[in-house]
Amino acid sequence: MRLSPAMLWRTRIPRYRLVGRECLECGRRHYPPRPVCPHCGSRRLRDVVLPRTGTVETYTVIYTVMEGFRDRAPHVIALVRLDDGTRVLAPLTDVDPSGVSTGMRVEATLRRIRVDGDTGLIGYGLSFRPLMEPRQGASK
Ligand SMILES: [Zn+2]
Repeated sequence: MRLSPAMLWRTRIPRYRLVGRECLECGRRHYPPRPVCPHCGSRRLRDVVLPRTGTVETYTVIYTVMEGFRDRAPHVIALVRLDDGTRVLAPLTDVDPSGVSTGMRVEATLRRIRVDGDTGLIGYGLSFRPLMEPRQGASK
C-alpha cells in the first residue's frame, strides 16, 4: 500500500485527536472509526473524542515484522481498554517487551510508523506508551 498526501490528510484528524465512533443504537464505541457499528451493524454513528489513557488488557510480542518495520522488532501489540471502556488494538512504544504486563497504565501517543521510500512521506499512527504517574494536583 502506498501513502498519498490525500490519504494522510484524510486520516490526520482522527489520529491526532483519537476520535472514535459511538453507536446511536447500542451505545458502544469503537476505534478506528468505521462506517458501520461492529457490534450491532447500525449505520447511525457519531464521532466521539476518546480518552487518551487506558489499561493493557492483554498483549503479544512480535518478533517477525514486515519490511519497513524491521528496526522496530521485537515490538509489542496490546489490547488497551481505554478509560471509557473502548478497546483499542495498537502497538506499545517506549517500553521493553519484558517490562510489559497486563493491568499496566498507558497513554496514547502519535508515532512515525512508516516511511515511503519513493516519496519520503511519513505516516503516523496510534500507539501507547507507559503512563507516567500524574503529578500532584494535575488536572484530568
Ligand atoms: Zn451498535
